[in-house]
Amino acid sequence: MRHTIKERLEAQRRYFGTGRTKELQFRRQTLKKLRSEIVKKEDAICNALYADFKKPRFETLIAETQFVLAELNTLIRHLELWARPERVPSSLLNFPSSDRIYKEPYGTVLIIAPWNYPFQLTLMPLISAIAAGNTAVLKPSELTPNTSKLIAEMVSAVFDPDHAMVFQGDAEVAKALLAEKWDYIFFTGSTRVGKIVYESAAGNLTPVTLELGGKSPCIVDGSALPAQAAGRIVWGKFLNAGQTCIAPDYILVHASIKDRLVEELKKSIVRFFGENPENSPDLARIISERHFKRLVGLMEGQELLFGGQYNAEDRFIAPTLVDEPGRDSEIMQEEIFGPLLPLISYRNEEEIDAWISSHGKPLAAYIFSRKKAFQKKMLRKYSFGGGVINDTLIHISNKNLPFGGVGNSGLGSYHGKRSFNAFSHQKAVIHRGTWLDPKFRNPPYKLPVSFIKKLKHLL
Ligand code: NAD
Repeated sequence: MRHTIKERLEAQRRYFGTGRTKELQFRRQTLKKLRSEIVKKEDAICNALYADFKKPRFETLIAETQFVLAELNTLIRHLELWARPERVPSSLLNFPSSDRIYKEPYGTVLIIAPWNYPFQLTLMPLISAIAAGNTAVLKPSELTPNTSKLIAEMVSAVFDPDHAMVFQGDAEVAKALLAEKWDYIFFTGSTRVGKIVYESAAGNLTPVTLELGGKSPCIVDGSALPAQAAGRIVWGKFLNAGQTCIAPDYILVHASIKDRLVEELKKSIVRFFGENPENSPDLARIISERHFKRLVGLMEGQELLFGGQYNAEDRFIAPTLVDEPGRDSEIMQEEIFGPLLPLISYRNEEEIDAWISSHGKPLAAYIFSRKKAFQKKMLRKYSFGGGVINDTLIHISNKNLPFGGVGNSGLGSYHGKRSFNAFSHQKAVIHRGTWLDPKFRNPPYKLPVSFIKKLKHLL
C-alpha cells in the first residue's frame, strides 16, 4: 500500500508540475464533466446511501447531491473572477508600484472524509481543490462502502488518476496516506482523529483544514415559542438520525417552559415519523453496529421522556428524549451523534454556563429566544463555529457564510469563495515600476529622524 501511495503521489506531483491543472479552461471543463457525472448518477448515489444506512432519498437529494451541485455551479460561475489576481491598494512608500494577491494552488492535496454525509463531505472539498488548480487524493469513509465505491468509480470516470483519485479503505489506509508529505490536508471527522491528522501534518509543516465535531448546545429560553421551536429542533436533530456534525446535541431549556417544550417535541416527533418511527421511510439507520451499541449504552440508566425503542437487526433507534442526565453521565461527556436528545432545565444563566463551559468550543450553537438582549448576550459570551437564532442547521446552507469550527471543533472554514481560498495560497506580489527610482531608503541614511517618524502615515 505504501508503495502504491508513493507512486500515485509522485505521478500527481509530476502532473501538477506540467502546469495543466492551473489552466482555467481545463479546470472549468473538468468541473463541468464532474457536474454531468453527478447529475447522471444521482439515482445511483441515492441508492448507495440507502444501502449504506437507509438514508432517505429526500435527505440525500437536499443534503448531498443538490448541495454539491449548487457549490459546483457557484465555482464554475465565479472561477475566473476568484482565480484572477486581486489588486490591492499600494503603499506610497513603494511608489511607483501595483500590488496584487495571486491565488496559487498548493499542489497535491489529501482529503479525508467521514461517513455521515459521505458524498457531500468528500465531493465538496474535491471540487474546491480542483477549482483552485490542485491535484487531489481522496480517502472516503470505510463505513459507507457502497457510497465510497461509487465515488471511486465516478472520480475515475471524470479524472485522470494523476489529477484526482480515490483510495478506499479504513484508518490504516488513512495512516499510510498521512505518512506522506502533502501540500495541503483537508480533514473532516472526529476531534480525536483530527488531532492525529494535525500531528502528522505538523511534521512536514503541511497546512490543514480540520472540520471536526463537538457537543453543540441548543438553548431555549422562557420567551421561545414552544411549538415552533420544537418543530425546528426535531427537524435538525433527527435529520440523518441525529448523525449530523452540527445537530443540536442537547437542549438547555428554561425551567418555566420545559413541560410545554417536551409536549411539543413529542408531538413533532409523531407528526414527522408517525406513531411507530421504525416504519417511517424518513428516518435513517445508525451507521454501524459499534455506533448502535454505543448509542444504546448511552441510554442505559437514563430517564426517558419519549422513544427509547431500538432494533439491533436493522440498527434502528427511535427518536428519543432523555430527561435531565447527570453532568458526569456518558451521554453528557461525548458527542452523541445519534437520535438521542437530552433535555436539561436551567433557572439562571450561571447554570447555562456550567454546562456549555464544561465542553470545548462547539461546532454549532442554537438559541431559541424572542428576547434580543438574551440573544446578544449568548452570542457575545460563547465562541462556536456557527449557529442560528431560532432555528437549527440552516447556517450551513448559505454559501456566503463560512462553515467551520473553532478550537476543539476545528480549524479553518469553507463553502463558496472561502472554499476556493482554502485550497489556494495567497501569494503577495508587488510589481515595482522602473520609471522612477527614489533613493531615500538607501545608505548612507540622510533623512532626518523627524521625517522617518512620519513614515507610518505612508505605510
Ligand atoms: P472519524 O474521525 O472516525 O473518521 C473520519 C475519517 O478518518 C475516516 O475516513 C476514517 O477512515 C479516518 N480515520 C479514522 N481513524 C483514523 C486514524 N487513526 N488516523 C487517520 N485517519 C483515521 O469520524 P467519523 O466517525 O467518520 O465521523 C464522525 C465525526 O465527524 C463526528 O465527530 C462529527 O461531528 C464529525 N464531522 C464533522 C463535520 C464538519 O464539517 N465539521 C462533518 C461531518 C462529521
